[in-house]
Amino acid sequence: MKTDLSASLFEKARQVIPGGVNSPVRACKSVGCDPLFVRKAKGAVVVDVDGNEFIDFVGSWGPMILGHAHPEVIEAIEKTAVDGTSFGAPTPLEVELAEMVCDSVPSLEKVRFVNSGTEATMSAVRLARGYTGRNVVVKFDGCYHGHADSFLVKAGSGVITLGIPGSPGVPEDIVKNTLSIPYNNVEVLEETLRDEKLDIACVIVEPVAGNMGVVVPEMAFLKKLRELTAELGIVLIFDEVITGFRLALGGAQERFGIMPDLTCLGKIIGGGLPVGAYGGKREIMDQIAPDGPVYQAGTLSGNPLAMAAGLAMLKVVRREGFYRELEEKSDWFAGELAGIAAGAAVPTTLNRIGSMMTCFFTPDPVTDFESAMKADSEMYGRHFRQMLAGGVWLAPSQFEAAFISGAHERSHLEKALEVTEWSFKKLAEQ
Ligand code: PMP
Repeated sequence: MKTDLSASLFEKARQVIPGGVNSPVRACKSVGCDPLFVRKAKGAVVVDVDGNEFIDFVGSWGPMILGHAHPEVIEAIEKTAVDGTSFGAPTPLEVELAEMVCDSVPSLEKVRFVNSGTEATMSAVRLARGYTGRNVVVKFDGCYHGHADSFLVKAGSGVITLGIPGSPGVPEDIVKNTLSIPYNNVEVLEETLRDEKLDIACVIVEPVAGNMGVVVPEMAFLKKLRELTAELGIVLIFDEVITGFRLALGGAQERFGIMPDLTCLGKIIGGGLPVGAYGGKREIMDQIAPDGPVYQAGTLSGNPLAMAAGLAMLKVVRREGFYRELEEKSDWFAGELAGIAAGAAVPTTLNRIGSMMTCFFTPDPVTDFESAMKADSEMYGRHFRQMLAGGVWLAPSQFEAAFISGAHERSHLEKALEVTEWSFKKLAEQ
């Protein structure tokens, strides 16, 4: 595979951008290669600057549930752009998107738009603290909630991938207010939440973890989490930045029938433009400025291009049958993949729900951070490079999800399965 142009761009990028990338995992360090620079993408196919084509299972890390450059999304952006790109004043588009988001996600009565998932989670935690008058945030090992100071404690995503335990630059004074406990562990959860000395304001959770690879929660765990937080007056925040509009129109909360107090959204609601959102019960949301005392603001928040892209995308996913078809396709693909894995002499465990999945290179079940960490990252790196050589673009880390989109056709999936079978065979021989 020719990668000369990517290589020379990376060389230039490293002179002026830290690590040559604007988000760490993109550097592909943990999979042992340099990043490919993208020229364009359409549907399920990404084309790099050297002209190589790949079937894409990253989907920009989740937003591209319709595939790339969906005509309705692009048209909405183009139409909106000619009338101006930012006003710092309210527009009709943000009202329409807020109504659509509140109508789609069952626990949302009000929603505030921000510009990234990180802003959404950071703001939701501030709101929970302001509302309860308490300080401590409980999170779960291996969950990632963006890069705000309070969350960089046993975090997932790039923090695991790069093997960074916490982060320099985050004061002890802040981290002492974050407690990280094991995912899917009801006993530790109960013991922690019932400890009155802890002054817990909120629990933030990925209702399906996507940032230590996909880890599906046990229903007993999520139910207990809801019961205990309700009983103890602790705000329950679902971080649905990945799962929102992915696992169902109403996200994981609709799929599991468990309603949080606050929900964080991102990725899909921006149609591929930078958007995040947090929302929930009216009583809590009314504490935000200007109605209430909890401050949160943004020059570009509710940006018209982002609102237009999000609206266009949500209009498509709200159509009859969208999630049913996505589910059926993902189910078929995961079934075939599991068959290939079972026949290969490479130990793997496939975790999947809806259109998100991770194939872990470990024979044992993966139910939390500790078991995820048993996966063989080095083997994943070889698999990643082989898949890339075979024309399939996976996430450049063992601890991320692969996403199926509405644009994946049977032929794309069949080709990906073929390449996977070939790669597994090679791994077994190596
Ligand atoms: N929460 C979750 C669950 C995420 O997966 C991510 C990003 N992958 C974030 C928050 C942070 O979002 P962003 O990268 O847009 O700041």
